[in-house]
Amino acid sequence: MTMRLILIGPPGSGKSTQATGLSASHGIPWIATGDMLRAAIRRGTPLGEAARPFVESGGLVPDELMVRLVKERLAHPDCRHGFLLDGFPRTVVQAEALRSAGIAIDAVIELAIDDMEIVRRLSGRRVHPASGRTYHVVFHPPQHADRDDVTGERLVQRDDDAPASITRRLRAYREQTQPVIEYYRRWADSREAGAPHYIRVNAAGPEAEIRTRLHSALRAAGLVANGRSASIEQRGHTPR
Ligand code: AMP
Repeated sequence: MTMRLILIGPPGSGKSTQATGLSASHGIPWIATGDMLRAAIRRGTPLGEAARPFVESGGLVPDELMVRLVKERLAHPDCRHGFLLDGFPRTVVQAEALRSAGIAIDAVIELAIDDMEIVRRLSGRRVHPASGRTYHVVFHPPQHADRDDVTGERLVQRDDDAPASITRRLRAYREQTQPVIEYYRRWADSREAGAPHYIRVNAAGPEAEIRTRLHSALRAAGLVANGRSASIEQRGHTPR
């Protein structure tokens, strides 16, 4: 059974956590376009150089470049049985490019969570800059307030986790992504042959519960065999 997925979710929706789980349990590569671009920029490749100004300013990299990048990546042999796209498509033009290239998608999964909950999650996050250890004032508090458990050093809040930045990031997400969500929702509703399933998962609550909801939704859509994922035995794990 192939598993070609698009995962969409705002910052703070637990997208990376769920992507890691899906990628491991279905043996499919996790393709995060933001990570690919950052790696290309670090290596100084022509793609990296072309993308750099857009990524650094927080704008979108031109569709043509992104479509070429993703098409090349999806042609790799590790995508034969499926893939998990994260961060792409970001525009309707990109979504249409996938469709017109004949790249089939089994399901588009939206991790849905309201803004209040996102602000609560992200604004409580604290980091220990030297080690990268992260805490949350409510969900994962340090042993002593504002102090790293290992070194006792002071914890800080990332600049982009400040409430004003969170609001800005969320606004950008809603503006960019809503049309893509609508595009897939409408296509799924059309019940056309080849239309991907559209799956909306409530992303509020504990991680494990969200994973269970996701799995049930994929099973209900007929994408996962009853019980365990059929693909686990067949393909094993492909690390990211
Ligand atoms: P992310 O890590 O997904 O937040 O992506 C980081 C940055 O990479 C974005 O702010 C964009 O500049 C760029 N980027 C990633 N994916 C895309 C895409 N599908 N279309 C355009 N730009 C993208």
